[in-house]
Amino acid sequence: MLERLRTVLIGTSHSGNIGGVARAMHNMGLSDLALVAPRSEVIHQDSISRASGADHLLHGARVSQTLDEAVADCTLVVGASARSRTLPWPMLSPRELGRRLPDECRQEGARIALVFGREDSGLTNDELHRCHAHVHIPTNADFSSLNLAAAVQVVAYECRLAWLEQQASSGGSDADEAEASLGADEQRASHADLERYFAHLEQTLTTIGFHDPQKPRQLMARLRRLYLRARPRRIELNILRGILSATDKTAADRADRPPRP
Ligand code: SAH
Repeated sequence: MLERLRTVLIGTSHSGNIGGVARAMHNMGLSDLALVAPRSEVIHQDSISRASGADHLLHGARVSQTLDEAVADCTLVVGASARSRTLPWPMLSPRELGRRLPDECRQEGARIALVFGREDSGLTNDELHRCHAHVHIPTNADFSSLNLAAAVQVVAYECRLAWLEQQASSGGSDADEAEASLGADEQRASHADLERYFAHLEQTLTTIGFHDPQKPRQLMARLRRLYLRARPRRIELNILRGILSATDKTAADRADRPPRP
């Protein structure tokens, strides 16, 4: 289960924090670290010293320029946020996230991204709208923001507790961890599948005049929230994309038709 969790750090500005995150992850048995557009060096004396022996995670970390690239294959994307935002989104506590993991991880090809933001400004709305759910560590409302590595520590700890409980209930065997091989109807869509769908949806809604990118009025964010909440299967997304293609074709045919006299 723990090997299916990817810790994603966006725009980290202190090498020491990247090292602190590597240590927190290794303490809890997590190993997949991805960095998106880091604003500091990944391999640096500060990161190596804060990693305190977990620097193999730093050497193994994948670096990409966008969140989409870092989580393309993920079937669940959860963003950690210290603040509540203007558009409410499904919220989980770290414990609730842990409770969901055994089921999420049993699926064939499951990969779960835990996304953490910048030390100075957290995650942008655009990044948060790419997540299925947000996880908030219930801190003092007057002083809600944890250090990045401390936030990773708390979330990773709850993931580990959930894994330990699962181990205990299966008598330490891996039986419960065996992947369920899923039929075509059950396969979860990946982040990349969903993003392709959202891009197509926005384009079609613009073509038919339902959406004006100059006056977006949170339309795409609300639609994202709806689809992400529904957790569409891959086969369902294919149907939805088929509907968009048929709509595009009808709109193009109408545009080609000569105007009525
Ligand atoms: N000043 C930023 C917080 C940055 S802390 C802000 O106001 O948004 C760096 C990152 O640690 C955050 O982006 C978030 O991913 C995580 N984090 C910090 N405190 C958290 C909390 N209480 N709950 C969940 N994540 C938290």
